[in-house]
Amino acid sequence: MKYRYQAVERIPKELSPGVVYHSEEFEIGALLCACGCGHRVSLLVPDSHEITSADDLATIHPSISVCDAPCKSHYFIRGGEVEWLPTFSSAMAATTMQLQIARHALRDNEPVPVTWRDRIKSRVGEAFRKLLSIFGR
Ligand SMILES: [Zn+2]
Repeated sequence: MKYRYQAVERIPKELSPGVVYHSEEFEIGALLCACGCGHRVSLLVPDSHEITSADDLATIHPSISVCDAPCKSHYFIRGGEVEWLPTFSSAMAATTMQLQIARHALRDNEPVPVTWRDRIKSRVGEAFRKLLSIFGR
């Protein structure tokens, strides 16, 4: 399976396998996990990831680490091809998980125009502080 790049205004509710959706307006990307588990992976573009396309095929940088689904997949998507990487250690996974929880908090607030970006960033910062106080115990 190769990942196609698809520019969209809004990320659709139902994602198709093998498609990387990218909304420049809302600075968000989404795809179904490459392992086939059906997990919806959300990416903040360009804050956490960069999505580019060549010949309709998607390239995502840096790697995608799925820490909030049982598969714990970790991979690159380059030229539409999935390149598998070793799974993160549990310590790294915990850190990345915190990041992803913060991203989910953010995603729940979508759709958000770009002009709200600073406001969201401060909201993510709050989520982080809360998480740190939970995980830091
Ligand atoms: Zn998966």
